[in-house]
Amino acid sequence: MPVSSHPLPRWLSPWMQGQKIHLWGAADLRGFSTPDSTRGEGYPFALSYAIPMNPLIMAGIRNGPNQDYADEYVRVNDIINDLAERIAIEIKRRGFRAQSLAASERTDTVNLQGDFPHKTAATRSGLGWIGRNCQLVTRTHGPWIRLGTVFTDMTILCGPPVERSYCGRCTICIDACPAGALKGNAWYPGLPREDLLDVHACDSWKRKHYFQYLRGHTCGICSAVCPRGLKMLKQPTLSGRMPL
Ligand code: SF4
Ligand code: SF4
Repeated sequence: MPVSSHPLPRWLSPWMQGQKIHLWGAADLRGFSTPDSTRGEGYPFALSYAIPMNPLIMAGIRNGPNQDYADEYVRVNDIINDLAERIAIEIKRRGFRAQSLAASERTDTVNLQGDFPHKTAATRSGLGWIGRNCQLVTRTHGPWIRLGTVFTDMTILCGPPVERSYCGRCTICIDACPAGALKGNAWYPGLPREDLLDVHACDSWKRKHYFQYLRGHTCGICSAVCPRGLKMLKQPTLSGRMPL
């Protein structure tokens, strides 16, 4: 897919910086089926952004989730949803269409998926690749992030998209998954989710073993063990506690 040559709107970078959004980009989604606006039209572009999870909490769930993780999951999702609404307002104020995509919302309860994969917008924005754990993996924070997406028709510099996996030969997440739900394939754009993850096996395990945390909606082991996330623990800011 071509990378958009439209420039970045001047207001956008300072605005994102002002919101402390440091991991973000824009995706060219022409050729993808995006949700319809109230006018019944899809969207050609999206802003994608990542909010870091607290690394100390992530490192604490390598054997399974706990209440701190469930609370952090909700806290970060709330930030993402609040930012998505405010980004959409800012775009609309400038005369364009915009529509936020809710964090972690399953609208298809049969196939266990939302209206559009945040991960697709993120890879097309260049934020990272989809790891063998079926999560977005960033270079700076590994998979220890959560994603937000705002669709728009505002013309914007997009990508360059990430077109391959950088997991290399690593299989740590696959070995760590207690449900045996990860298939072990290396991601590439267009690979069906089913070739990375048995989503029903993952979901059943979570409901059966971790129902006390957000009604079985979380696990996180396959993110917690990822060396791309664990390297966050070596950051100097973690000599104390991570600033929230
Ligand atoms: S979330 Fe848990 S059960 Fe699901 S794939 Fe990851 S480690 Fe396995
Ligand atoms: S644990 Fe290894 S294989 Fe799994 S997502 Fe991280 S780098 Fe990729």
